[in-house]
Amino acid sequence: MHFAQHSEHYRTCVSDIFRWAKVRSVLTALLGALIWVAGAAHGGADSIETGSLETGSIEAGSIQNGAFELEIVAPGNYVHYGTHDDRSRQNLGDQANIGFIVGERCVLVFDGGGSLPVGRALLNALREVTDKPICYVVISHVHPDHIFGVAALTADDPVIIGHENLPRQLAARGKFYREALERDLGELAAGSDIVMPTKTVAAGETITVDIGDREIDIRAWPPAHTDHDVSIFDRSTSTLWLADLLFVEHTPVLDSNITGFLAVMQTLRGTEARHYVPGHGRSSAAWPAVLDAQQRYFEVILKETRRAIRENVRLMDAVNQIGLSEADQWVNFETYHRRNVTTAYTELEWE
Ligand SMILES: [Zn+2]
Repeated sequence: MHFAQHSEHYRTCVSDIFRWAKVRSVLTALLGALIWVAGAAHGGADSIETGSLETGSIEAGSIQNGAFELEIVAPGNYVHYGTHDDRSRQNLGDQANIGFIVGERCVLVFDGGGSLPVGRALLNALREVTDKPICYVVISHVHPDHIFGVAALTADDPVIIGHENLPRQLAARGKFYREALERDLGELAAGSDIVMPTKTVAAGETITVDIGDREIDIRAWPPAHTDHDVSIFDRSTSTLWLADLLFVEHTPVLDSNITGFLAVMQTLRGTEARHYVPGHGRSSAAWPAVLDAQQRYFEVILKETRRAIRENVRLMDAVNQIGLSEADQWVNFETYHRRNVTTAYTELEWE
């Protein structure tokens, strides 16, 4: 491993684990290493360090383009930005922005990424930064690109925190998500198991945890992106981690309630954040102006869907008409937009 410090951010190359060489023997060695590391995950941080060094026969490489990178967005706040590409055996589901906050006593991790290997890469990158134990893992919501890496982060026996509705959603969707992961990743999905929260936060409530001279607010929201979104806020640096309450570049995704999402965004604007971390994508825009594009997107859908319902346009036609002015503004529009319109239509037709 190497670890280079740049003026504004670190780039951590988890170089000894993730190389997707085409050579079968290397792949076999990697799988052996993953299995070994998964087994060692119950042995504590020291053995994980040793284990990753023992995989030195695997050449330097990455989940995607050569490195599993971390950036420091504020002191103690380390972010790994995921890709906008579809999930594949190359990117291993490394799609969501995930990361951690380091306190004097211990570390809080926010989301684990889309597979056990992504969670492993995050853990290895974290261990390049600090030896402090992980005392909290916050799961932002049920979507697979956020949850499956959590299985790699449990060795320190952290409190696993989620919204009060998260256990129900994990129970309802977990098996389906897991089967889809196996379809996409094959044997590389091994060990990507669902981890249930050990502590939940009621909708509309905020709890505060202290990780040592650093207090983190964990806020559970009413229905928006999903019916169980959680954000975190590092008080000492005023850094707001929004997960999928904020999409940048990537088409926003609606899996619950469009009017709720707009209301939650309005509340979010009142947060005095100096730094922010979206769930997908990145931006140099100021807070809260960075919310504007997503707000415009949902307002267009809201307005045009209400009109379609008023004019008795059927859903199957509406999905091909509504919101097309937004098509050039977002990545992955074809994949997500019609589903968003369907969700909005289903909600709004009962207004
Ligand atoms: Zn999501």
